[in-house]
Amino acid sequence: MDKSPYRPFKPKHEQMALVPETSGNTINGVGEEGFRRASPIYWHDPDTLVHGDLQKWFYTQDPDNVAIAKAREAREKFLDIEVPPVSSEPLDQSAEAWSSDLRAFAATLDMELFGITALQEKWLFERHNLSQKWIIMIGVAHDYDQIKHAPEDLAGAEVIRQYGRGTKAAKDIATWIRERGRDAVPHGGPMAGSLLLIPPAIECGFGELGKHGSIINREFGSSFRLACVLTDIPLVATEKETYGVDDFCSRCQVCANECPPEAILPEKNWVRGEQKWYVDFDKCIPFFNENYGCAICIAVCPWSIPGRGPRIVEQLARRAARNKQQ
Ligand code: SF4
Ligand code: SF4
Repeated sequence: MDKSPYRPFKPKHEQMALVPETSGNTINGVGEEGFRRASPIYWHDPDTLVHGDLQKWFYTQDPDNVAIAKAREAREKFLDIEVPPVSSEPLDQSAEAWSSDLRAFAATLDMELFGITALQEKWLFERHNLSQKWIIMIGVAHDYDQIKHAPEDLAGAEVIRQYGRGTKAAKDIATWIRERGRDAVPHGGPMAGSLLLIPPAIECGFGELGKHGSIINREFGSSFRLACVLTDIPLVATEKETYGVDDFCSRCQVCANECPPEAILPEKNWVRGEQKWYVDFDKCIPFFNENYGCAICIAVCPWSIPGRGPRIVEQLARRAARNKQQ
């Protein structure tokens, strides 16, 4: 049953003329049972991508939109911040001391989620290399009163604002580490760097992968964005967390029903050696491009509604305890 008021969606001819012959799902490795590293697909330099013309087209849409222009201008200011060089007096302390000092510093910053995980080579895009051993993950929550307007411009502007806030927090943390004589490299979205950010965010305890292809966090649902800092200071990893999202998503259809181009697949698929939830890239991108980055699936997910996530976690825990007793 169609539930989205945006159906049926018919992409503009001028956009469809830019769609390449190669499917984005093929580039993403859908149906592949063997592992390989991810290929850059959309958020790298467009001149190097098969789908690069579509990315360029996205940035030409609604050029006079005031909310989007203001949000991009604010983000530019954060992108322009220079991270200082590494101080010549390196601090030596234990992994426990670095981790607890960092957590305390992060608590003073304009960010909501903090985690640490060891870098795994399998998260790097193909042909990319990194020498750092650790990733400090950052999560910045959307203002739900803005993101709930998805797919309108207010939601698109909110996403841009949060990418800016994530970039600022990453630069603050990298600066803090460099001032202590150790190297650190910040990274904020939406443009991708050398590694996928969702797998390390799951590994460090931000949440579990939802059917809509985004992380579901117990407090913020999917209503947040990611940034990170790469470093070699010794650290202690934060714990991975599971609370039943997988089972919940297998019984929920909200995002799939609300997705205008019906891009959210109902079952898990093989993707480069892993069976997981997957969003059809070829179906999602045209709607995303014509609607300020869409974000409907994030806004409608029940976990994203303020206050709902913790209650769902409690319900799932009660159900699991009941099932154990039976
Ligand atoms: S972002 Fe993509 S997958 Fe999510 S609702 Fe919009 S079109 Fe569907
Ligand atoms: S809307 Fe439902 S199925 Fe979709 S990600 Fe959220 S919980 Fe999972």
